[in-house]
Amino acid sequence: METIYGLLTGSRAEREEALARAGEILRAGGLVAFPTETVYGLGGNALSAAAAEKIYAAKGRPSDNPLIVHIARFEELKPLVREIPESAGKLAAAFWPGPLTMILPKSEAVPRETSGGLDTVAIRLPLDSNARALIRAAGVPVAAPSANTSGRPSPTEVRHVAEDLGGKIDMILDGGAVAVGLESTIVDLTGSVPALLRPGAITPEMLEGVLGKIEFDPVLTKPLTPDMHPKAPGMKYRHYAPRAEMYLVDGTQAAVIRKINACAALAKADGKKVGILASAENADAYCADAVLCLGERVKPAEIAHNLFAALREMDARAVDVIYAEAFPESGVGLAVMNRMNKAAGHHYLHAEEEK
Ligand code: AMP
Ligand code: MG
Repeated sequence: METIYGLLTGSRAEREEALARAGEILRAGGLVAFPTETVYGLGGNALSAAAAEKIYAAKGRPSDNPLIVHIARFEELKPLVREIPESAGKLAAAFWPGPLTMILPKSEAVPRETSGGLDTVAIRLPLDSNARALIRAAGVPVAAPSANTSGRPSPTEVRHVAEDLGGKIDMILDGGAVAVGLESTIVDLTGSVPALLRPGAITPEMLEGVLGKIEFDPVLTKPLTPDMHPKAPGMKYRHYAPRAEMYLVDGTQAAVIRKINACAALAKADGKKVGILASAENADAYCADAVLCLGERVKPAEIAHNLFAALREMDARAVDVIYAEAFPESGVGLAVMNRMNKAAGHHYLHAEEEK
């Protein structure tokens, strides 16, 4: 298939033409990758079972891993769900448009293919004006998981989308680099207490400020074991994974630097190509084939923004093993560490102080 590219950052006429073309493709049942403020999404008509199936096929994604449905205005929520609980109204008022996805009981309008066979549906109203313009141009809600091959790090730049999906989908819209860099926060509103299923830029503190106490799904912090049944089906699959083996290293600053350099030297002696994911504060202290700086430790939003591109860069540089500094789990740091843990398959090394 020949993929058409459309530019959203050029002239106004160019942008409008690209959006109109993309809207037509979506209405006709085709697939369009587009920027949102979180990551690039792979869009299809959310009301069409056939479009959902095309999305799963293009991504190589298991079809029991449901898609998030994107809308452009709050009023578009009503036909997609059986009820709008008070909590959903409050969250929408506080965080929509924005990087928050709500799980609600689905209506008949949403095909089971879109919801991965579930009775519930995930809905988001994105902040990115290009994303909303595309949904309006389509005239239908747009189902859009991240626009990557299943299992690879999510795309934060258009070249990542082209790498994974070029030649497999109808159109790719180029809106430049995304703002947040991590997928949306997912909160399940179908139980008696709201439950956080996936951390993102809308932090637990922000959710609790609106809803009071929320629950944390156990899979957020622990590796998944066969007896656990995750509420977000996507959680059972390997995610965000670079091709290399990856280890997270935590401890005091000096101990972490020493541990990572020692591990890197040993791996090199074994003939391995070594990558290090470092904070700006420590990057100069490392020695390896690829030392990539994620940002300042005190700025988790910066680290969130750079993480997925850095994981892809490690793939491009063909490293065999990656050592990454662990970061504090406060605020957006929770989402950063959630993705890093998955990328590393929860492999941790604890750096000990020298006695
Ligand atoms: P992605 O858009 O690729 O980041 O994946 C969407 C995520 O939303 C997946 O992890 C899904 O498991 C989750 N999700 C979507 N719909 C539901 C739902 N109805 N219930 C629980 N989780 C959902
Ligand atoms: Mg994804």
